[in-house]
Amino acid sequence: MDSPAHRPGARRRVAIGDTGAVVGDGSFLVIAGPCSVESVDGIGRIAESIAASGAGMLRGGAWKPRTSPRSFQGLGADALAMLAAARDQTGLPVVTEVLDPRDAELAAEHADVLQVGARNMSNGALLRELARTGRPILLKRGFGSTIQELLDAADYILAEGNEDILLVERGIRTFEPATRFTLDISAIPVLRERTHLPILVDPSHPAGVARWVPDLALAAAAVGADGVMVEVHDTPQMALSDGEQSLDLDQFRELVVSLDRVLEAVGSRRTVLDGRPGGSPLSVVPTA
Ligand code: PEP
Ligand code: MN
Repeated sequence: MDSPAHRPGARRRVAIGDTGAVVGDGSFLVIAGPCSVESVDGIGRIAESIAASGAGMLRGGAWKPRTSPRSFQGLGADALAMLAAARDQTGLPVVTEVLDPRDAELAAEHADVLQVGARNMSNGALLRELARTGRPILLKRGFGSTIQELLDAADYILAEGNEDILLVERGIRTFEPATRFTLDISAIPVLRERTHLPILVDPSHPAGVARWVPDLALAAAAVGADGVMVEVHDTPQMALSDGEQSLDLDQFRELVVSLDRVLEAVGSRRTVLDGRPGGSPLSVVPTA
């Protein structure tokens, strides 16, 4: 069924704030960072390292959607200030998840991109409120949702006049217990046909363990995704959430080297910051 999210031909290019970064222009965006923002020093260390390794955006959760209310819930507004400080330090734009529509404006003041998590994909009130901030929205597929339902959710954002949407395949729940979720790699070519919106892959949440993350990330590059979002921590064994699936800083640096090889093979290139701190524009890494 046709919907506003279905506009084949004209691929949507999503500009990220005033950074000069563009997603969906044929280059490959690498988003990296911890599951949760845990401290100002921690997020600063991680941001510096991933920027040096070639990441183009920093991720970090301020409010965490945890299965149990007894698990770490995130540092909330304090984490937003820490993310903003890390952006000033490195020039990397930042993305963070919003759980409550009442936090939309505050989050939009600090973050360049607002994330809707898998558990909230179908939360129309949240989608509308985030869309109205005018910030680009990173919309994750629900783990029990079809590809069409993901596009229907994107229509809530488009209906508010916000066309800056990054779709994310992050794994769905199947009968297979060997991995945390089953990465639906088929969703990428299907979405490419059904929507003009950029499509990213999160290899961390489906893998569930760090050692499988690089292979899934490389598959995303090979299949033609517009980028990946990878969980990275400086001391994964100490992480307050999702440490098991987080790459350490060295593993992330090695992953970017491997990604560049795959991207070259498929005729694409990675988008990276040009190295100047403070909102420096993204530029395409020369392949020569
Ligand atoms: C996350 O990105 O840390 C997260 C909670 O992801 P998801 O919503 O895909 O589970
Ligand atoms: Mn996580």
